[in-house]
Amino acid sequence: MTPPSSVSRDALLFTPGPLTTSASVKAAMLHDAGSWHFEFNGRVRWIREQLLAVAELSAEDGWTVIPLQGSGTFGVEAMFATAIPAAGKVCVLANGAYGERMVLMLQHLGITHVVLRSAEDAVPDADRLELTLAADPAITHVACVHCETTTGILNPIDEIGRTAKRHCCVFIVDAMSSFGAIPIDFPAAGIDFLISSANKCLAGVPGFSFVITRREALLRGGGQARSLSLDLADQLRGFEKNGQFRYTPPTHALLAFEQALREFWNEGGVAGRGARYWRNHVALIGGMARLGFRPFLPPAVQSCIITAFHSPADPQFDFGEFYHRLSRRGFIIYPGKLTQADTFRIGNIGHLFEADIVALVHAIEVTLHELGVSLSPLASVAPVKITA
Ligand SMILES: *Cc1c(COP(=O)(O)O)cnc(C)c1O
Repeated sequence: MTPPSSVSRDALLFTPGPLTTSASVKAAMLHDAGSWHFEFNGRVRWIREQLLAVAELSAEDGWTVIPLQGSGTFGVEAMFATAIPAAGKVCVLANGAYGERMVLMLQHLGITHVVLRSAEDAVPDADRLELTLAADPAITHVACVHCETTTGILNPIDEIGRTAKRHCCVFIVDAMSSFGAIPIDFPAAGIDFLISSANKCLAGVPGFSFVITRREALLRGGGQARSLSLDLADQLRGFEKNGQFRYTPPTHALLAFEQALREFWNEGGVAGRGARYWRNHVALIGGMARLGFRPFLPPAVQSCIITAFHSPADPQFDFGEFYHRLSRRGFIIYPGKLTQADTFRIGNIGHLFEADIVALVHAIEVTLHELGVSLSPLASVAPVKITA
């Protein structure tokens, strides 16, 4: 039997992941690989090396990449479960759902922590972090999200990291939705642990996350992991011992990821991928302004990864109906996740191009017309290219 032809007719995913992937990434999965066969282990080694290259780090300086089965959340939780010593205390900066998820993990793991919350449309305040760290020397780790996918806000990790380092704290960054498209300078930000996953900007399929850290930083605590399957130090020892995942790896997702990495380099790496997302973002912001949709965030903190828009006030606008009609036209958008405002989200990442954004905006225009929603065009606010 041939694969269903629907593979090329799937709706486009304007979501924060899992994403629309290229046909070649999907095709790479049409193989079965033995998880302890030397060929497969060679591919896993190549993937780990390439991820270090994406981060512009080298093994000679002690850096390593630890892939872990499961989605991104598993990677973040594994990092906390493994890397925080019994006497450790974590300060979490939260301005969205993923920062709050870190807090939930620390609660579940019984790890002492404090939370510095800021509004969902404001970046964390480094001065407040400075005061908190100065007042509480028990804090050993600072954790934050780079691109908070809840809104698309880009948090200033360089500034936060420098503050953490002034107080000799270990710095942890959830770069799930930014790694591979937004430049991240590990030394400048003083990053000790960075977590990302296969199915965001690197455009693979879901199945594993990965943690980038220094071998020393991870193994220092030795044997304190609060979980068996989420023990990153043991996972690393497994790779070092025989090149294998400790338990069944997502073999097909790894084959797809190998292809996704080739396509990433062909596109010009972080700069090339970021440039495409930026073009998508500019087309989206301009097109949506023309239709009368207002972004939730001010341009100065808005990343090019995903944008939250205010739902129109028009009573004729029903998100469920809007969503269903768009999905029937082949466009999947994403509901909002904000506590403060009624929003919906549109992602720019995955195998999507400017023409796809233009097609989406057109479908939105037609759908609004069908729903009888009338909005006035807004003056287009020029997007701001931010790096952090
Ligand atoms: C996607 C994402 C995660 C992980 O979510 P999963 O559903 O477990 O993959 C974590 N943090 C951020 C910022 C994300 O965008």
